Amino acid sequence: MVISENRTNIAYRCNDCGMTITGIVGTFMLAKGQLVKLKCSCQNENKLVLQALPDGKVQITIPCIACGGTHSFKITKDLFFSKDDFTLQCPYSGISVFFSGSDENIEKNLLESAEDLKNLFAAMGIEDPQTVFDNRAEINHPEQFIDRHMQDVVLFVLGDLADEHKIFCDCEDGGDFLVESRENKITVSCKKCHKKLDIEPDNSLSANAILEADSITLK
Ligand SMILES: [Zn+2]
Ligand SMILES: [Zn+2]
Ligand SMILES: [Zn+2]
Repeated sequence: MVISENRTNIAYRCNDCGMTITGIVGTFMLAKGQLVKLKCSCQNENKLVLQALPDGKVQITIPCIACGGTHSFKITKDLFFSKDDFTLQCPYSGISVFFSGSDENIEKNLLESAEDLKNLFAAMGIEDPQTVFDNRAEINHPEQFIDRHMQDVVLFVLGDLADEHKIFCDCEDGGDFLVESRENKITVSCKKCHKKLDIEPDNSLSANAILEADSITLK
């Protein structure tokens, strides 16, 4: 069974340095209660966190550049992946702090909120709010972002399968399994009979097969 993955672009601003951080989120990454985290490359430890809830909604937790607080929103997964032009606002300032949809719409909404933020900071007496945005750099490594998270999701699912004794090999009394994660490959092998299975998390067919599997058999 092959299920095509829905993906959407997301962006937010670091609440410390003001840099725009972008990523791509796919349905697989939001499987099985996994947390998807997006963080600035600066010292700021605050992260944007996405989590798929059991009721089918996505919880989005955003460190807010406008008020310095943290805001949490819940929206349905369908809405999250279908909206081409979507923003969430800081409830205190009304300024957009989360962006998703097409690249063009995200760019447009980011520009709009930059104006709002400049006005807000100016009103707060910050002398040169422009400096907040001058260091804006693009962190566009969406593919790496996906692969890294996909790797986490696959490892998580393998852990589940192992716990439930759903990994099979040639050993009749049950194998002794080893999971090794290398650059672009996860290998599950049995230390006793040496059967194995390679999974490429960046290959959606291979990864999808694992995510959909009720059990796996090493060959
Ligand atoms: Zn930052
Ligand atoms: Zn806020
Ligand atoms: Zn074995």
